[in-house]
Amino acid sequence: MIRIRGARTNNLKDIDVDVPRGQVVVFVGLSGSGKSSLVFDTIAAEAGFQLTETFPPFTRNRLPKWTRPEVGQIEGLSPVVVIDQRRIGGNARSTVGTITDAWTYLRLLFSRVSTPHVGESNHFSFNDPAGMCPTCSGLGEVVASAVDRFLDLDKSLQDGAILLPGFGNGGYWYSLYADGTFDVDTPLRDWPKARRDALLYGTEPEGVVERFERIYLRTSDNLSDRKKETIARFTRSEVCPDCHGDRLNEASRTATVLGHTIGEMARMEISELADLVTDVTDASVAPVVAALKDRLDAMVTIGLGYLHLGRGTTTLSGGESQRIKTVKHLGSSLIEMLYVFDEPTVGLHPHDVSAMTTLLEQLRDKGNCVLVVEHDPAVMAVADQIIEIGPRAGDQGGELVFQGTFAELRRAKTPTATALAQQRPIKDQPRKPRGTVTIADATRNNLKNVTVDIPTGVMTVLTGVAGSGKSSLASELVAQHDAIVIDQKPVSTNRRSTPITYTGIATPIRKLFSRLNNVPASLFSANSSGACPDCDGLGIIYTDLAFMDGQETVCQTCGGRRFTPEVLSHKVDGLSIADVDDLTITDAIQRLPDRAITKALHHLESVGLGYLRLGQPLTTLSGGEAQRVKIAKELRETTGPTLYVLDEPTTGLHLRDIDTLLAVLDDLVQHGHTVVVIEHNLDVIRQADWLIDLGPGPGKHGGKILYQGHVAEIPDTATGQALTNR
Ligand code: ADP
Ligand code: ADP
Ligand code: ZN
Ligand code: ZN
Repeated sequence: MIRIRGARTNNLKDIDVDVPRGQVVVFVGLSGSGKSSLVFDTIAAEAGFQLTETFPPFTRNRLPKWTRPEVGQIEGLSPVVVIDQRRIGGNARSTVGTITDAWTYLRLLFSRVSTPHVGESNHFSFNDPAGMCPTCSGLGEVVASAVDRFLDLDKSLQDGAILLPGFGNGGYWYSLYADGTFDVDTPLRDWPKARRDALLYGTEPEGVVERFERIYLRTSDNLSDRKKETIARFTRSEVCPDCHGDRLNEASRTATVLGHTIGEMARMEISELADLVTDVTDASVAPVVAALKDRLDAMVTIGLGYLHLGRGTTTLSGGESQRIKTVKHLGSSLIEMLYVFDEPTVGLHPHDVSAMTTLLEQLRDKGNCVLVVEHDPAVMAVADQIIEIGPRAGDQGGELVFQGTFAELRRAKTPTATALAQQRPIKDQPRKPRGTVTIADATRNNLKNVTVDIPTGVMTVLTGVAGSGKSSLASELVAQHDAIVIDQKPVSTNRRSTPITYTGIATPIRKLFSRLNNVPASLFSANSSGACPDCDGLGIIYTDLAFMDGQETVCQTCGGRRFTPEVLSHKVDGLSIADVDDLTITDAIQRLPDRAITKALHHLESVGLGYLRLGQPLTTLSGGEAQRVKIAKELRETTGPTLYVLDEPTTGLHLRDIDTLLAVLDDLVQHGHTVVVIEHNLDVIRQADWLIDLGPGPGKHGGKILYQGHVAEIPDTATGQALTNR
């Protein structure tokens, strides 16, 4: 057992929990109930912290930093691996092949049996000078001038037709071109083409393109931020003209196995490659082929057979990244590890979920402990044990409300059990569209020249198995019609940004305190005489340490309360200005009697975020919470009818919170907007006014419209089956 005593992190109410080891344990509960606080911020954090402590300081500084949880005692931990939906790093050299080690085996295969025979396996590594393409240094792409962005053809030279910094009228380089060689008065559009070419590519004086590339691209100087910005604006990445994206040098990229180059294999769908490599019959490489096949099969099993090994990891979705990480750990021979998953079914069609649960069971059967935070009943069904935290969100949660099997949960009376018992019916009276917008001839990624009408003024749900082309179709909608995407990226990266700053209620709060206490409002501002003199109203003190990360400590003078005792003595409904930070949004609406405040907060409450605290940094929000904050902002600020696109808005939502979400989406439609949602959740699909189902398979086996119409009439596609089976 992992024995936890007195867990108090975030909203946890001093709880004791025994989590069995060697099992799949699924943690359930409403959003904000405290699941993550227990699983990630307590169990994983303590395991990570203790593991880090075993290393010398030099190593420790390079490891992820864990915040020690507020807990009495934890026993029975082991080294922890957190498999979350954070995307796999932004390194251009990282591909699906390198991250899963499949590429290592493929290289080995080529070094042993390719024709002509090349030699060492590092000759097939694009991260090794022996193998990399010299033109692009193994990146497969080169940075090239975006010449079409250099000139404003409607302007003359003296009006600033050359848009590059320093080339405009009065700029350092301007006189080179304006000293009589070129016409400075006529808009460039009216020049003969030969003159424009001379300006861009001439030799006397040196053309603008060559000069730009010399100053910005072929320089060994350290680039200033301004230069980097200029480069980003006036260049684009292009496929390497030498290796055409294969990343390897000539010898390595022309060698073949079974008649295919390694580049061709990197572009094949993984499921196809898995079939192909079984044709290698050379006994000397049998172990290599077996290891390669093992990795490829694991990816097919987990529903990623539609990817290719050459795919850059930065282009993967959150759910895809998470599944790749899982495959990587399946190959590990470490046992008795603690694996912690954050909603592994995100991005998975019900059809693909069983592949994921199989992986979880495999990890367990290898002798590991698998903890999963999940809302999907299909995952609960495979759990050896279920732990529900709740009963509600925030302050009204944080307790252990149930522990037992799925069958026992179904008979219990917890919020999760109740939600499981209810199934939302298919919407019987879909709303009538106002009109349509057309996505025409879409060929992005795997789309097979799709033309489709999206009804306006209603909610359309895009469905289909993972990799079928839903996101690609949504991107095409955005590109063709400028829709607004409401995604799950962080609302803010500034740790000082909170619901207070975000909704702009800081001033109304100060005015309220001033009005009800008859003192100046400025007293309650962090940059006034009312602020704590030692921390200047920050509540914390920074200490800069040479050679190390700076330290942050709570200010001793005010104890983090930021104001002088005199200011804190002024109250509204018994609350000081510092207490306001600890109020939840729901409480604040009731206790701060001011229209400006309640109006601004109402929108956050209406999207189900009433449990957030006013002073909670927005950087602590989950992806799903961030997305709902953005929906709230749109509800508050929109003007004319707008087209919104949402990618899996149920991520992180408990079955019951889905009611709130659906009400919010309804609200958007009620305001005259058009809502397009990519979604796997069957309750959301049933509530669609219009359904567009893509497929039939992933990757090149998908990209077609299988069905468009009302949910009730969907034929026997993967989505249709999922709707009838559950
Ligand atoms: P769940 O995982 O069940 O959705 P969480 O454990 O993330 O819930 O959150 C439980 C409560 O703790 C919520 O009210 C949430 O707003 C709050 N909370 C989470 N992280 C932090 C944090 N870093 N600081 C303050 N409050 C937090
Ligand atoms: P879905 O949203 O239905 O899961 P996607 O639209 O993300 O599917 O993907 C459809 C196909 O396009 C898949 O084969 C996927 O691997 C491919 N794809 C998606 N994004 C990219 C990209 N940036 N580069 C290359 N291929 C991509
Ligand atoms: Zn190249
Ligand atoms: Zn202070």
